[in-house]
Amino acid sequence: LPAIQLIDVCKSYGFAENKVDALKNVNLEIKKGEFLALCGPSGSGKSSLLNVLSGIDQPDAGITLFLNKSLNELHENQLSAVRSRHLGFIFQFFNLIPVLSAFDNVYYPLILNGHFPRKTAQELAWHYLDSVGIRALGDRKPGQLSGGQQQRVAIARALANQPDVVVADEPTGNLDMATGDAILDLLLRINQDTGTTFIISTHSTQLKDRARRVIEIEDGELVSDSIR
Ligand code: ADP
Ligand code: ADP
Repeated sequence: LPAIQLIDVCKSYGFAENKVDALKNVNLEIKKGEFLALCGPSGSGKSSLLNVLSGIDQPDAGITLFLNKSLNELHENQLSAVRSRHLGFIFQFFNLIPVLSAFDNVYYPLILNGHFPRKTAQELAWHYLDSVGIRALGDRKPGQLSGGQQQRVAIARALANQPDVVVADEPTGNLDMATGDAILDLLLRINQDTGTTFIISTHSTQLKDRARRVIEIEDGELVSDSIR
């Protein structure tokens, strides 16, 4: 079953002599349960592709299907509803709220999106902090945690909402090799245990060597797609 399908997707920025074609007729099908690495040099179009396939941006042309439904005709509030119900995001710089504890960083989004009652949200937050190995540090603020620990909190936050698809933009880009490897272990384990679809951009070979499917993008075009 496809989680995401892109058909002839194009995306440009700017006008006239400043126009940049960030995505050029991209065709891609991502099945449910895949663990996909999106690789390419800086400026090749990775973020543009993640933004289009997750309904953050609309493409200029082409079709984007998410769980078999078209995103193309949706307005921003409808896209935002799709994102909050079905998607989890993980970022290079963690994007945790510095004044909140690790627990509250996971708990408050669950309350704010309104999908869960307080008690359930509390249990989900502890459960996912536990599953990323951070439960004992739940009372600490992000500034009292290492980079790897902060990324674990961010992973718990992304998973607690029980998304169908997790999109991660350079999740190990701000971590040393060993910490990055541990984070990849964690994401691979979650993918195996839960069947959650992962789409992860990177320009390191670390992830490329371990993902089951690797897509390479260069200058806005998909240049290779390999499954092992
Ligand atoms: P990557 O994530 O692989 O670094 P991006 O998708 O961010 O690549 O960028 C692809 C191309 O589009 C680059 O040439 C970049 O400079 C350009 N670009 C991306 N976002 C914008 C924007 N908001 N305005 C203008 N150009 C942009
Ligand atoms: P369940 O077993 O139903 O998932 P948990 O055992 O995860 O529930 O948590 C039960 C309650 O215990 C939580 O709502 C929380 O208030 C409290 N709790 C769990 N772990 C911690 C902790 N590390 N620090 C403080 N309180 C905690």
